[in-house]
Amino acid sequence: MTPAMDTPLDFGDPADLEKLRRDFRAWLAEHPLPERLPDEPVPVFLHRWHRLLHSGGWVGLDVPEEYGGRGLTPLHQVAVSDELGARGAPGVPRIGYLAHALLEFASPDQRRRLLPRMLAGDDVWCQGFSEPGAGSDLAGMTTYAERGDDGSGSGSGSGSGGHYTVRGQKLWTSYAQYSTYCLLLARTDRTAPRHASISAFVLPLDRPGVTVRPLRAAGGDDEFCELFLDDVRLAESERIGAEGDGWALAMTTVSYERNALDTGHLSKYGLLVERLRRTASERRGELPDGLLSEIGRCFVDYEVLVAHARRRTAERLAGQVAGPASSVDKLLMTRAEQRLYETALKVFPEELHGPGGDVFSEYLYSRAASVYGGTSQIQRNIIAGRLLRLPNGAD
Ligand SMILES: Cc1cc2nc3c(=O)[nH]c(=O)nc-3n(C[C@H](O)[C@H](O)[C@H](O)COP(=O)(O)OP(=O)(O)OC[C@H]3O[C@@H](n4cnc5c(N)ncnc54)[C@H](O)[C@@H]3O)c2cc1C
Repeated sequence: MTPAMDTPLDFGDPADLEKLRRDFRAWLAEHPLPERLPDEPVPVFLHRWHRLLHSGGWVGLDVPEEYGGRGLTPLHQVAVSDELGARGAPGVPRIGYLAHALLEFASPDQRRRLLPRMLAGDDVWCQGFSEPGAGSDLAGMTTYAERGDDGSGSGSGSGSGGHYTVRGQKLWTSYAQYSTYCLLLARTDRTAPRHASISAFVLPLDRPGVTVRPLRAAGGDDEFCELFLDDVRLAESERIGAEGDGWALAMTTVSYERNALDTGHLSKYGLLVERLRRTASERRGELPDGLLSEIGRCFVDYEVLVAHARRRTAERLAGQVAGPASSVDKLLMTRAEQRLYETALKVFPEELHGPGGDVFSEYLYSRAASVYGGTSQIQRNIIAGRLLRLPNGAD
């Protein structure tokens, strides 16, 4: 881990937050980032890091204690991400948006069973929303969960009472091959309007009928998976929320996914902006003017993002939930990240080593920022329709 720089989201911290930062720094000094083992897949390595962070009490700080968290505020979790990013360390696992979906839609019993294990990394979760014909148009999904009532209670996942039989295919399911559970969306009504006919389920990935097939991405890793669901039986008790709640759950999930509060990213960008600034002043006269102004733009993007994230954090502390405004966060983050790594590759061409080179692999992943969590075009549609109320915007 690199030594920490100033963190971007220092709120003139209240005393307890300042103490939390101090405690965390002390803990980090005793628990440095572990070495990645030879040939260890990145997700396996990050999972070890996740469990180590959790053992110190640094995951789920803003999740209520009864569900395995520490019952603190989002700002406490922000402070932890901020400290990690400022050291160039991987952040806390990106499970906050799934945890929010469960907190809002799962029954108290489901929350008690699922959340503590999710936070601890005992269970690893993935998100089964997109399909081959339903990405931007998510409501067009065709995976179907057919309801059947049997009182037998026999067979895996049937529980007692009703069950569903699920058929369909999901695509781009990140890290499904390393996951225990999938937060699955499926249609449960063939007659209701599209948005009202989707339900959410917790799908154990070892359930008979589930096939996970990894796909190789440009960066060389196998993040994406196809998920085939052939007559997979799910118990009614494995549904999250009521039938038809799936769309609302999906929108809650993606709003948190698009949120600018993931400040581990911000402080990571801050490290690179600072490196670019230093290089520009050390190599004055050597770098072309065009490149210098690109570095300037990176700095401006970063400053805008930090100011925006501060505002968002304050809103969250005031009790506001993430909503369509997260689309603004997503666009700002995408612009900042893509420009930053594009510029960094021009300033440090020696890091263009292909997959494995730090800047290069970050650059490759930054290209996906305008797609994952909803494309930039879709974010603009949401801003036009939901925030600006312009005619013909997305719903
Ligand atoms: C790194 C990464 C990780 C991902 N992880 C997951 C995951 O874990 N789980 C999951 O469910 N999904 C995941 N996805 C999928 C992601 O949500 C979809 O790729 C995304 O929603 C776009 O859908 P699509 O790929 O089907 O593109 P399409 O919807 O086919 O879009 C193709 C192009 O058309 C444009 N377009 C489509 N509709 C409109 C419109 N109405 N107005 C203007 N332009 C439009 C899009 O902006 C895009 O440029 C991941 C994607 C990436 C890149």
